[in-house]
Amino acid sequence: MPRLVKKKYGFWQRLYLLEALKGLWVTGGHFFKHFLRLKKIETFEYPEERKPIPEGYRAEHRLMLRPDTTIRCTACMLCATACPAECIEIVAAENPDPKIEKYPTVYNINLLRCVFCGLCVEACPCDAIRMDTKQIDMAGFTRGEFIRDIDYLTQNHPEGMSPISIAP
Ligand code: SF4
Ligand code: SF4
Repeated sequence: MPRLVKKKYGFWQRLYLLEALKGLWVTGGHFFKHFLRLKKIETFEYPEERKPIPEGYRAEHRLMLRPDTTIRCTACMLCATACPAECIEIVAAENPDPKIEKYPTVYNINLLRCVFCGLCVEACPCDAIRMDTKQIDMAGFTRGEFIRDIDYLTQNHPEGMSPISIAP
């Protein structure tokens, strides 16, 4: 096992005062540069103006549909199994279509527990769940408001994004 080597600090570092003053100097420098407009800092007038979200950013989930507008999810539970936060709840039912075994009657995601790791998306074998909505501003007054149910998730397709997935 590697031995822990204790870092040696000089007198002024052990006194902390000089280090604290150095920190204040840096912070103060940034403050006055922006206050006196010597440097232009990029800001966004949120919520009217939103920061551009990069492609591939893991935001709020959405459940995809088939071309016939039925839900793609087959309630296989792979996403719920892969989820490290255990925040996906699925209740499966028999699908009337004999070619598809099951479908979810309940599909809840508790966003208060979600860590936005994207493992549910990775685990899904049929592109039934995506996190590409770019919706990152989530607010609510009660815990219940953060549980996204199947109705919400199947309609959570931002403008310009197709709800249909043509994955095999
Ligand atoms: S993003 Fe991660 S934590 Fe959130 S529901 Fe998916 S697997 Fe669970
Ligand atoms: S979203 Fe995908 S992984 Fe999760 S239950 Fe549905 S089909 Fe399975």
